[in-house]
Amino acid sequence: MRNSGKIFKRISSQIEILQPRKLFEKVRPTHVIHLAAMVGGLFHNLAHNLKFFRKNMAINDNVLALCHEFDVEKCVSCLSTCIFPDKTSYPIDETMVHLGPPHDSNFGYSYAKRMIDVLNKGYAQEHNRKYTSVVPCNVFGPHDNYNLQAGHVLPALIHKAYVAKRDGHALQVFGSGKPLRQFIYSIDLARLFVKVVREYEDVEPIILSVGESDEVSIRDAVSAVVKAIGFEGSVEYDTSKADGQFKKTASNEKLLKLFPDFKFTPFDEAIQESVDWFVENYDTAR
Ligand code: GDP
Repeated sequence: MRNSGKIFKRISSQIEILQPRKLFEKVRPTHVIHLAAMVGGLFHNLAHNLKFFRKNMAINDNVLALCHEFDVEKCVSCLSTCIFPDKTSYPIDETMVHLGPPHDSNFGYSYAKRMIDVLNKGYAQEHNRKYTSVVPCNVFGPHDNYNLQAGHVLPALIHKAYVAKRDGHALQVFGSGKPLRQFIYSIDLARLFVKVVREYEDVEPIILSVGESDEVSIRDAVSAVVKAIGFEGSVEYDTSKADGQFKKTASNEKLLKLFPDFKFTPFDEAIQESVDWFVENYDTAR
């Protein structure tokens, strides 16, 4: 996995940015992994709920309509564990997507993503299509969005810890550090996506997450980042900033039933690889 950065660089340099219709005309895909979305961490969502809703609704309707028009056999779209109901029982499972309002902080993104499941069911009912969705927990890894304002917590922390170490000041973490999250390494998620394309035949969503016992606090995540980057300064928690959802603990039972031999990369190892990638690519990272 050490050279995953190189592989990514090679792939991304081969991808042309085309309008979706032009891309479908050119590639004529039989299988589609639909990842296009407006995404962001808690603070980006809090500021732009309307934009998150409208853009994602437009993207999803467009991509799935093109899949149908171009006779794509299978499309796997991406939801997220943050779209589940806020007031719920734990662990969350795949049957709960529509069982109550999402957390207020990201209602725009959440409702738009839930509509993918509605589209999938509609295309199955009316056109017998096998379009499905996966529900990853928080993703991190090389080539993530490391932007300090818009990024998710791990890339933002890696970026902040890098700058704090370089400039010799304290590392500032937002919120109390108490919320809990499940994190999946992007390389593991990519492997699971391929398995789902090949082997998962249902329209219902499937959660792609590490187990419930692998859930960590933001404070634990900070410790892992600090260790990997070798930051020895002080860490401050800014409790005037939002904590967001306290937890969204998801069950990966369905996943493990389907792929019982799947091995997740240990969290510390995946954090180290992500930090190494960021340090190496600081000048060009997003
Ligand atoms: P979420 O999992 O959808 O809520 O989104 P994030 O990946 O942005 O994680 C948000 C959690 O990390 C909240 O509890 C934040 O208070 C906490 N957090 C701590 N520092 C940061 C930071 O620098 N950026 C972000 N995005 N979240 C942070």
